[in-house]
Amino acid sequence: MTSPQHIDPSQISEQATIKVPNWKSDAKPFVQIENITKKFDDFTAVDNISLDIYKNELFCLLGGSGSGKSTLLRMLAGFEAPTSGRILIDGVDMAGIQPWNRPVNMMFQSYALFPHLTVAENVAFGLKREGVRGAEVKKRVAEMLDLVQLGHLGKRKPNQLSGGQRQRVALARSLIKRPKLLLLDEPLGALDKKLREETQFELINIQDELGVTFVVVTHDQEEAMTLASRIGVMNHGVIVQTDEPQDVYEYPNSRFVAEFIGSVNLFEGQVTVDEPDTVCVTSPEAGAELCVNHGISCAPNQDVHVAVRPEKIRVTENRPDQKYNCVQGTILDIAYMGSLSVFKVKLASGKEVRVTQPNTNRESGGRFTWDDNVYLSWDMDSCVVLTS
Ligand code: ADP
Ligand code: MG
Repeated sequence: MTSPQHIDPSQISEQATIKVPNWKSDAKPFVQIENITKKFDDFTAVDNISLDIYKNELFCLLGGSGSGKSTLLRMLAGFEAPTSGRILIDGVDMAGIQPWNRPVNMMFQSYALFPHLTVAENVAFGLKREGVRGAEVKKRVAEMLDLVQLGHLGKRKPNQLSGGQRQRVALARSLIKRPKLLLLDEPLGALDKKLREETQFELINIQDELGVTFVVVTHDQEEAMTLASRIGVMNHGVIVQTDEPQDVYEYPNSRFVAEFIGSVNLFEGQVTVDEPDTVCVTSPEAGAELCVNHGISCAPNQDVHVAVRPEKIRVTENRPDQKYNCVQGTILDIAYMGSLSVFKVKLASGKEVRVTQPNTNRESGGRFTWDDNVYLSWDMDSCVVLTS
């Protein structure tokens, strides 16, 4: 496990697109992963995963290094055989079907272009091997190069291209055989940040245009948030949560997911009220009663955590008029970060709370200073209770 990288959603809002999940209309799953396990000797890399992926989805497998993402992808491609379980693609059981006979193509992180072939020849390679010839090859290569916006560079050699351009050649090469399912293992890993962001958008556009189902492996949560129709969060060979990006962020189902994606404050406490639309938690750590407006299945007095994202918290000088979700503390640290300010506030219990406030106008950052006594408050629908 690498340590989670913390991002602030306000910093990705420019890239984050709201995607209409067009796969939802398609009730029949295109890829069915049924109780798949992969063991290497006595080490379990993938542990009894079941997952349905729909046509036209851009599904992201997100997890730390070693969580089993690549192994799962390689089983879809046919490069690894499952120890147990079944994979169906388009209704067909893939057991015993060789990689080249599957309706699947895989793009690797190292793009592995042939250095002695031109861009156009690299893209044409797979088609020619299938026996496609002449004008048909020319036409399809031109189409693909246009799609990845490299129509003008067909005669160049790979070493005359930038990293992003090489990545697009690799993408064109893996799409030209018109696979129904394209598997991408850390496809943008070798690109620098700015190029990666641009390419993420291109990937989304290409996916939209071709209607190919994409499964993308990434350890980069920001990338998963930007690209995915749905995210499967992996940990120790298990998918711990599968949801649309916004739901993974707003309604994480565990402390692991809450902390892996974004930054979060966790308050330990015990359940005092347990109703279908209200759960209250007494938290000595927070020094207050914390309430949320959703139910959970739990026992009275059960130990739980209340999770609140830093941007959901208000900072005020005076006590706000609310009974729940209001704690008092002292400002320990302020970091001005341009678009927002980050406050570290210490509560009486010693617990430190992270709060981010947008700098909506030039003065807003300067309202508070070190050692100020402040109140932190948030709404009932801005936090979640986690039982695991
Ligand atoms: P990820 O892609 O999430 O980083 P992988 O799927 O590559 O993780 O690997 C998951 C775990 O399985 C790792 O601990 C890795 O060392 C192990 N593993 C992967 N391939 C093999 C193999 N061929 N033999 C033994 N162990 C492997
Ligand atoms: Mg990997």
